[in-house]
Amino acid sequence: MKELKDRILAEGRALNEDILKVDSFINHQVDMELMSAIGKEFAEHFKDLGITKVITIESSGIIPAGMTALELGVPLVILKKASSNVLNDDMIHTEVTSFTKGNSYELSLCKRYITENDHVLFIDDFLANGEAATGVIRLLRMLHATMAGIGILIEKTFQPGRGKLEDAGFEVYSLARIKKLEAGSIEFMD
Ligand code: 5GP
Repeated sequence: MKELKDRILAEGRALNEDILKVDSFINHQVDMELMSAIGKEFAEHFKDLGITKVITIESSGIIPAGMTALELGVPLVILKKASSNVLNDDMIHTEVTSFTKGNSYELSLCKRYITENDHVLFIDDFLANGEAATGVIRLLRMLHATMAGIGILIEKTFQPGRGKLEDAGFEVYSLARIKKLEAGSIEFMD
């Protein structure tokens, strides 16, 4: 997606060879016009898959996933990272390793919001090792729901996420694919 790639080149900052910071338009300050265009792009790409829910992980995925859900006319389900005293009934959990923090966290979903009839589209900001997506797949399997597609804003193709997900039989659609990161330089796949 040209608008996203242009923005990454203009404002993205490679912290090192592994991590890209996009705080000025995705992760901290958010460009809502860009998010709206991203929602339209994902909705167009996945429109024939019979998606019944869009799912994401708090917090950076919420806005692009929400825009996509709005375009598709389906609910957005937000997976929780922190345990809550309020949302503790009917919850299922799985452990995920955080790419950026290096530690593990628990991902939680209330069983009431996904059923075995759901065809779910997962949207996230980055794809690195595929840990977050694999955690979402585990939760959906527990509820016998179908993971119908995976939409990613920024994929780092030098990390193994796509390979793992494709080997497991899932389609991955990324809007920007980065093949190399270096301090001061960002190279795209195509
Ligand atoms: P994965 O689970 O695929 O290993 O990593 C994806 C998750 O880690 C995303 O949800 C995202 O929040 C975070 N992440 C991975 N790589 C980056 C990166 O280069 N920059 C930022 N800001 N977050 C990243």
